[in-house]
Amino acid sequence: MVDSIYRTRSLGIGAVGLPDQYADGKAAKIWQLYIGDTKSRTDEYRNWLVKLLQTNGCKRILDVACGNGVDSIMLLEEGFDVTSTDASDKMLKHALKERWNRRKEAIFDKWVIEEANWLTLPDDLEKPGDGFDAVICLGNSFPHLPDFKGDQSDQKLALKNIASMVKPGGILIIDHRNYDHILATGQAPTGKNIYYKGDLTKDITTSVLWVNSKPHMVTLDYTLEAPVSEDVDGVSKFRLSYYPHLREAFSELLNQAFFGKCEQQVYGDFKAFTPGQEYVPCYFIHVVRKTG
Ligand code: SAH
Repeated sequence: MVDSIYRTRSLGIGAVGLPDQYADGKAAKIWQLYIGDTKSRTDEYRNWLVKLLQTNGCKRILDVACGNGVDSIMLLEEGFDVTSTDASDKMLKHALKERWNRRKEAIFDKWVIEEANWLTLPDDLEKPGDGFDAVICLGNSFPHLPDFKGDQSDQKLALKNIASMVKPGGILIIDHRNYDHILATGQAPTGKNIYYKGDLTKDITTSVLWVNSKPHMVTLDYTLEAPVSEDVDGVSKFRLSYYPHLREAFSELLNQAFFGKCEQQVYGDFKAFTPGQEYVPCYFIHVVRKTG
């Protein structure tokens, strides 16, 4: 286990007083480089997500952490009806630009994009009828929400709000990095990135902040080999901090968010996950069906 050296970077404060780690615009720009060409999501990811949505008869999708729109654009191109929200206007700027650039394509013309925070989601976004067929929150987004109060009340509220957007019989697809492994070893698993094809990543340094003997925050420092036009040194760095959700505890939080009326499945890097299995996944993806 590592003790952290934890340095802060200036954070913007969002509408409900929470930090927007993308507020300086730099992280939003570099994130775009990190994930690479938005058209080249890994085939494995695209196929898994599209098949899951199709086999569950999902048409109307809400992406509650759309960021610069990468997942939403992929789903629009696959013919889904997409609503996209995010708390960061700097991230949304990229999505809005793409919608404008492709406005002549009917699916992009009717793409709904709204600024919305998970903590105030029902106020920020009008729920259509009894909800969306599927809600997605992917790319290790949920761990961006810190636990300032130390009782996970913000995280519980956010998950309840997100779950409330799912229609009965619909599904929530939400992921987080494998923090069980990160906390046990002090390192993120070294496997390839299952989501993005971006190939500029040079290094990701992991630090863990412990408070009262409990892991409170994991900080990842990304170093990218950026094109010279993006950064004079040819190297771009950015830092993101995450709350380290453990797999089993997160399943329990999800169960609470759905008031126990749900069925859950867990995937490790898009493959069915069995505790104790040999392969150590980089990401856990929880799929929750609302049964009541
Ligand atoms: N899904 C995208 C974005 C990942 S980055 C991708 O895979 O590339 C995580 C996103 O979560 C950021 O855009 C950030 O603004 C958003 N986010 C963090 N906290 C949030 C909150 N409380 N409410 C809504 N969005 C939030």
